Amino acid sequence: MRLAGPLPRAKRNAGAVPAELEPLQRLSAGNCSFYGGSRRRYGRGSHWLEFMVGLRLEHITHAFHGKVAVDDVSLEVDKGEVVCLVGPSGCGKTTTLRIAAGLEEVQSGRVTVNDRLVGDDGRHVPPEMRGVGLVFQDYALFPHLRVLENVAFGMTDGPSARARRVAANKMLDRVGLAHLANAFPHTLSGGEQQRVALARALAPKPALMLMDEPFSGLDIGLRDRIRDDTLSLLKELGTATLLVTHDPEEAMRMADRIALMREGRLVQEGAPDRVYREPDGPFCCTFFSKVNSLKGIVENGSVRTQLGRLEADHLSEGTATQVLVRPEAIQLGDLGGPESDSVIATVVESRVLGPYSLVYVRTEVGGPVFEARVTGTHPPKPDAKCRLTLDSSQTFVFPLSSG
Ligand code: ATP
Repeated sequence: MRLAGPLPRAKRNAGAVPAELEPLQRLSAGNCSFYGGSRRRYGRGSHWLEFMVGLRLEHITHAFHGKVAVDDVSLEVDKGEVVCLVGPSGCGKTTTLRIAAGLEEVQSGRVTVNDRLVGDDGRHVPPEMRGVGLVFQDYALFPHLRVLENVAFGMTDGPSARARRVAANKMLDRVGLAHLANAFPHTLSGGEQQRVALARALAPKPALMLMDEPFSGLDIGLRDRIRDDTLSLLKELGTATLLVTHDPEEAMRMADRIALMREGRLVQEGAPDRVYREPDGPFCCTFFSKVNSLKGIVENGSVRTQLGRLEADHLSEGTATQVLVRPEAIQLGDLGGPESDSVIATVVESRVLGPYSLVYVRTEVGGPVFEARVTGTHPPKPDAKCRLTLDSSQTFVFPLSSG
């Protein structure tokens, strides 16, 4: 995550603020009030449902030194909606977020925040004038300011300094840190610093929150709690949020909608359960879960593999396919079970992982080993023979050419 961008230097004197915090200082010093929002309408006649759009990216394309990092990305985030931008390292997530924030100038396309055009190839509204809140992985708190001063820093719109302090205190209370108002950032734990950063970004009531890997610096137990708290606060305030993460589980947990990027392009977008249940291709399927990967040819509407036969009547005869089988799709039963659509497997190894167990099986002597995930703490032992069937809702057959 890079904080500094190719922006003109701030007109304000940055004073004692470290150089790497300058963009944030400018952001905090800007106008963060709400703008009148655009409305998307769904429905007919008098039964319109209206949604205010917090962020609209239209056909954003961006290159560094001639190499395309973001390729024709269009995305909307409605008021009150959390959209998670996910994808592998280097696929262009941070660049997209920085363009939305105004930390990168638009090269091609349009950026609209709360119905106000803030960036196109001839216009650049600076970050501090966009009405956005930013939270980054490293929190970027001002080290020389106390917690309350950090939170109050960006609240330039309040009627008086006292009113701003009261509002800042209230936001600190919302994140459970009112008792640390007078502490300096270096005396806080990582989780506390993250919550101060969140309070500071939310205090000016931004129309849009842009968050880049905000939880990745926290250890696992704390991360879960802070994620849940953050989500309920964002929902309570109705803030449109674009959150960048490379962690599929985090996206599944936080998002109303997931946007998956690959090599600069948006490749699938939808509700978390839909993206998981109905991946558009192998890339999406393997990004969100572990899979056993096999190959096969469509014959008479199905593909025969070492794990059994899979329906493939959506593909034409003779198509070469990639078959992806999630570990939880593999069900292991007694040899005495029904024979239809099952294969005999031998257990190679099994491991109890708490609420579920991993069982590694082979269906052919010397053949590949497949991973099954089964519930319970008494998995079959090595060398045991079992009958293997597949849950077809967790298996996917794609043409080999779909990548
Ligand atoms: P990560 O999850 O690792 O942070 P990302 O998906 O956020 O990755 P970006 O940081 O947006 O990816 O980078 C996309 C591509 O653009 C990468 O190839 C990266 O090296 C390149 N890139 C990003 N910023 C710059 C820059 N300022 N100068 C040159 N290349 C850059």
